[in-house]
Amino acid sequence: MSSADRLATTLAHADVTMEDARGRLFDFLRIPSISAQPAHAADCQRAAGWVRDRLVAMGFATEIHPTKGQPVVLGRHEGPAGYAGPTILFYGHYDVQPADPLELWTTDPFDPQMIDGPRGKRVVARGAVDDKGQVMMFLEALRAWHEVGGGIPARLIVLIEGEEEVSSPNLDPFLVAHRDQLAADFALISDTGMWNIDTPALTTRLRGITYMQVTVKAAKRDLHSGLFGGSALNPINALARILGELADSEGHIQLPGFYDGILPVSNAQVASGKRWTSMRRRSSAISACRCRPVSAAILGCSGCGRARQRIFAVSGVAIRGQGRRR
Ligand SMILES: [Zn+2]
Repeated sequence: MSSADRLATTLAHADVTMEDARGRLFDFLRIPSISAQPAHAADCQRAAGWVRDRLVAMGFATEIHPTKGQPVVLGRHEGPAGYAGPTILFYGHYDVQPADPLELWTTDPFDPQMIDGPRGKRVVARGAVDDKGQVMMFLEALRAWHEVGGGIPARLIVLIEGEEEVSSPNLDPFLVAHRDQLAADFALISDTGMWNIDTPALTTRLRGITYMQVTVKAAKRDLHSGLFGGSALNPINALARILGELADSEGHIQLPGFYDGILPVSNAQVASGKRWTSMRRRSSAISACRCRPVSAAILGCSGCGRARQRIFAVSGVAIRGQGRRR
């Protein structure tokens, strides 16, 4: 069979077996693997075992690695005999956010349902779109390759963790400890979304986040501005100056070395950014940005394409909250 035939056969098989695949997705969604709630630790372990079983069924060598928190599932498949192509690492997570507040749900969050929506049926359950649906999309594609496509088509490492929703505190040490085992040419992360229900998306960059709390210490007690103002450093003045220097009026971050190692947005991405303008997104904040007066609030808005580019591809700085400590 040619590779095109194998692909066609695999896709047809995925279509024919969609009902069964949905059943497996629903089984996965029924496990309340809430990493933030200790009462659900056993459910997280159950979800890890469930994922492991799927991988074992497709011939993966698998391990469940305990961590200080929820376990990491690791699977490896060497691909076809004599495979000389790239090694691909797939990442996803089996944990979900807590379902509270429950009264805002119209169905049981852990009893998945197909619900009629304005654009056809959709799956409603906690974790359906983050990240169990995406993980199952990948695993079910692999299943189709395994069953009719002549086997898993590449060397794959599958890493499914269980603490993404609590900031993955044990993932970094795990990655460092298993550096050699995890060596890969590509990392494929499917913990992302689609542009809208009609437009699939390949996410090529994510901005990440780094955050810190800044405390400015000054006098031990309140100082009257009439007696000390202009002489004693006012901490709010100092803080305002520090925060004001984080970015210039165009939004470019001024921290030395901040952009080192960050790939610039390519011309092709800029061009595709212009096409974003023609794509509708149901967000009043973005759709309002049509270079009308409201757009002044959006930095760099000399056209929606550029504003969207900033939203999706360019680093930003945000200052949240302000408190007072004695
Ligand atoms: Zn996620």
